Amino acid sequence: MVLKTDLYIDGEWISGTGSLPVYDPSNGEIIAHVATADDSQCEAAIDAAYRAFSPWAKTAPRLRSEILRKAFEIMVSEADQIAELISKENGKVFSDARGEVLYAAEFFRWFAEEAVRTPGDFRQAPSGDKRILVTHQPVGVSLLITPWNFPAAMATRKLGPALAAGCTVILKAASETPLTALYIVDILHRAGVPGGVVNFVMPAKSGPQIAKMLHDPRVRNLSFTGSTEVGRILIREAAECVVRTSMELGGNAPFLVLEDANIDEAVKGAMIAKMRNGGAACTAANRFVVARKVAPEFIEKFTATMSALKVAPGMTEGAQLGASVSVKERNKIAELVDNAVTAGATVELGGKIIEGTGAFYPATVLTVDKDNPILRHEVFGPVAPIVVFDTDEEAIAIANDTEYGLISYVYSSDLARAMRTAEAIESGMVAINRGVISDPAAPFGGVKQSGLGREGGFAGIHEFLETKYIGVEI
Ligand code: NAD
Repeated sequence: MVLKTDLYIDGEWISGTGSLPVYDPSNGEIIAHVATADDSQCEAAIDAAYRAFSPWAKTAPRLRSEILRKAFEIMVSEADQIAELISKENGKVFSDARGEVLYAAEFFRWFAEEAVRTPGDFRQAPSGDKRILVTHQPVGVSLLITPWNFPAAMATRKLGPALAAGCTVILKAASETPLTALYIVDILHRAGVPGGVVNFVMPAKSGPQIAKMLHDPRVRNLSFTGSTEVGRILIREAAECVVRTSMELGGNAPFLVLEDANIDEAVKGAMIAKMRNGGAACTAANRFVVARKVAPEFIEKFTATMSALKVAPGMTEGAQLGASVSVKERNKIAELVDNAVTAGATVELGGKIIEGTGAFYPATVLTVDKDNPILRHEVFGPVAPIVVFDTDEEAIAIANDTEYGLISYVYSSDLARAMRTAEAIESGMVAINRGVISDPAAPFGGVKQSGLGREGGFAGIHEFLETKYIGVEI
């Protein structure tokens, strides 16, 4: 596989003015050097996206749809090699990486289908003599910023709707995982996206350079996925120029096991909700909230299943838990666990860094009180704190005791009880008796400090469309 490592501006691969190393976190070796952009190259990307905007916005939706469909097909046919690339630069195991590629490709397929279905509205005004015509137009040049944990899916979840809507884009990937994003940009190039419609830059210094880009009046939209901390900085920057923003931020998902839950099913769901991506998912179950009556059985079965996971570099046959994305991220996980233990957590499993090369942390289970500090942080690793509750009201109060509100999980054999609980929890998504519900056809997003806006579903394309009202006198 020939890796793409240059900047991509106006349909051309261009050398950077600097470079940054990309590491394999399972052994610390450098995989590649990726080009970084200075201010003038970031500006050249805006120039190209701005020039391409009007022609792209006027392209037949059917053509935009066909290009996205082609990108979907290329991505699926090259799934194994993209998965290998993800596994290498991110550390996750190959099976997770392959699952991510197929999920990521679905955003191209879904938005290929949405491109030709943008709804409008035509009505008689209440006064009777006027007509209200509502149409949608692409917002304009959009800046897309993605995190390292799903390097393929977080890019396609933005690229798909942006291109379907008729926007042109500048993509900036996380510095830990740019190679996957570059591969996807190359897929779009091969699928026939015209020059300037998609651009890729890796600013040498994200903070000041992205801020400068946001202050360029030609940039009209910012779609960001990442931490709440960085999201807040970008919302402040965007406010200065009233740039429209979509924010997919951090999570602190509660996983509720009510007393009538099927425990074997709950353990199966818990393993997916916690361990997909080695726990590095905004949707990862971060707090297990378990009814006292079933807690001993759940803790025993869940801990046994966690302890059986094979920890190994992502490309090793049978690996189930790979490396964290970097030693720095792994050490953050270790610090959160150490602080939890100091605050009184009991370690049921794991809890100590795996020494040696590679950023490995073991599957860890803790039992904690409901005021343990770990319950207030997004752990982003294979760590499962479990807290016990007595009444459903108490479980809901624990679930809502966080600044985040992305997703929650509820296990119960009584659908009405699960539904009542789901409606009382403050989160943008709730999974009932399922360990994963991410679906390109469903609206993904959070409430509270987990973000603004939705990606996927019918809502996703509207993050890249403006509503225009045309009033008509007849
Ligand atoms: P991060 O916020 O550190 O970085 C995200 C992106 O922002 C990266 O590309 C990074 O280079 C860039 N960035 C960092 N500082 C910046 C600045 N000052 N200006 C502009 N860009 C800047 O997040 P991360 O560590 O890459 O990813 C993990 C976080 O992402 C977690 O909090 C996770 O919950 C969140 N996430 C959320 C979702 C969601 O859909 N809600 C999905 C995946 C990940």
